[in-house]
Amino acid sequence: MNPDFQRAAFLTAAADLAGTPPDSGREVAFAGRSNAGKSSAINTICHQKALARTSKTPGRTQQLIFFRIDDERRLVDLPGYGFARVALAVKERWQGLMARYLSQRESLRGLVVVMDIRHPLGELDRQMIDWGAGGGLPLLLLLTKADKLKRGAVQSTVASVRRAVAGSAVSIDVLAFSATSRSGLEAAQAQLSEWLQLPAA
Ligand code: GDP
Repeated sequence: MNPDFQRAAFLTAAADLAGTPPDSGREVAFAGRSNAGKSSAINTICHQKALARTSKTPGRTQQLIFFRIDDERRLVDLPGYGFARVALAVKERWQGLMARYLSQRESLRGLVVVMDIRHPLGELDRQMIDWGAGGGLPLLLLLTKADKLKRGAVQSTVASVRRAVAGSAVSIDVLAFSATSRSGLEAAQAQLSEWLQLPAA
């Protein structure tokens, strides 16, 4: 158990940048296609059953949810994406909000892009990666639901995603993860601890 992440608690939800907590200290944001497993990943990392699920109530889907670890450190659950059936205006609003948050937020120290290991690097995943990398942010590509694939397929997917993002100007780490088996948990926590400057557990 990592007691730092276990302390994470809901702080606030923001529909736009004006509603975000003061931009000081350090924060790490989680992005991902809806249903990729982002909430499960946040809950597993924080050793809590329902921390991120509180953000699932209708109407909050386009909000940034902030979790406080301590006065200087936060985790941020960014609105899930995947807009096959939503209005263009909703997609454009999301794109504007994400682009502004990723480019303007001073306290943001790293971006976790959560992807289902069976469907990595979709169009909007690539957009998030480009926005993050374009802003000089280090990235962690968390390939979750790794328990759904055999070990060899996990390794080959990690290798092919690594190849796809090689040569970026920023550091991009690729990690297989499972909320079910907890594989990759310690490595994910180690990366977040480094970005947040938390002492090693
Ligand atoms: P979100 O929409 O990205 O927040 O996704 P959720 O965390 O709500 O997960 C979507 C679905 O995938 C749920 O049915 C989860 O139980 C399932 N899920 C999430 N993570 C894992 C995992 O690591 N392994 C497996 N087998 N299922 C997972």
